[in-house]
Amino acid sequence: MKIIAYGIRDDERPYLEEWSQDQGIEVKAVSELLDESTVDLAKGYDGAVVYQQKPYTADVLDRLAANGVTNLSLRNVGVDNVDADAVKRNGFKVTNVPAYSPEAIAEFTVTQLMRLLRRTPTFDRKQAKGDLRWAPDIADELHTMTVGIVATGRIGRAAMKIYQGFGAKVIAYDVFHNPELEKQGIYVDTLDELYAQADVISLHAPATKENHNMLNDESFGKMKDGVWILNPARGALIDTDALIRALDSGKVAGAALDVYEDEVGIFNADFGSFDAIPDERLKNLMKRENVLVSPHIAFYTRTAVKNMVQFALNNNKQLIETGKAENEVAF
Ligand code: NAD
Repeated sequence: MKIIAYGIRDDERPYLEEWSQDQGIEVKAVSELLDESTVDLAKGYDGAVVYQQKPYTADVLDRLAANGVTNLSLRNVGVDNVDADAVKRNGFKVTNVPAYSPEAIAEFTVTQLMRLLRRTPTFDRKQAKGDLRWAPDIADELHTMTVGIVATGRIGRAAMKIYQGFGAKVIAYDVFHNPELEKQGIYVDTLDELYAQADVISLHAPATKENHNMLNDESFGKMKDGVWILNPARGALIDTDALIRALDSGKVAGAALDVYEDEVGIFNADFGSFDAIPDERLKNLMKRENVLVSPHIAFYTRTAVKNMVQFALNNNKQLIETGKAENEVAF
């Protein structure tokens, strides 16, 4: 059995080599992404492991299949950039890694909230200028607050545990009620109830057609004055212009955004200087002391990267050996 792994970063390579040695399976690591220029490298392999934000186009998938490779294992969750018709036409088996470390995202989300509540970004900036005074940057305490969790999937539940550990009151909204959490009585019936009660809103829902820009002028209007907004989920959940208006008016006290509507091509790139970042709205947000923008790094831990690589390789091996895998995605 031979597997080719595309888009392998330096931080992934040791985990790939460890798996290859443990399993005694040859894995060719290629640093380039899977596209028209690299698809022929897959000739002679039994499966391909991939992770990229750019599309897996019909052309590339047709050529991959023509090269004899139809076992495709993604190292991430989302499969929205995979051409579904080409998958069906060529009989691809596709797997993803639905959970590589929910705690990675949950811990980062709460870290950012604590930075906002304790005003550490402001104190860092003041101290760098020699200003060691306290006022006017008085902080808030999380245990006095109500946190509203939108979506109690794996990440939402991991975040919930941490908020509860801090002593915060947690309420939650989800289209599906987790039976264990139902017993704890944490669910509210509507988003409007969550908006009305929450001091902090922590978003953990996937992006769907139904929740596109769910945080908009109207929903901000239903929230408490001085609410804190956390989005480590998907940029499309927030109408960015509406958020900027809500920050300007003080309706929103601050926000931590690990994702952004127009992040593709911007996050995980080096523009050389702040001014060169080619997105004025993003820079508007980044300049604010009460907004923490991070470039989709909540997942980026050693544990999560190891799991993404090794779970995807396990899936690919399973597909090659049995034609099936637990994490197979239906198209
Ligand atoms: P999950 O599949 O375990 O849970 C998703 C939950 O969302 C489910 O309980 C589902 O019922 C609920 N849901 C779906 N649509 C909803 C809606 N319209 N309103 C309310 N709830 C809704 O997913 P997860 O592993 O917890 O991941 C959650 C999201 O986090 C992902 O979809 C992804 O967008 C994001 N994510 C971000 C990073 C990062 O690095 N920032 C990493 C991984 C995942």
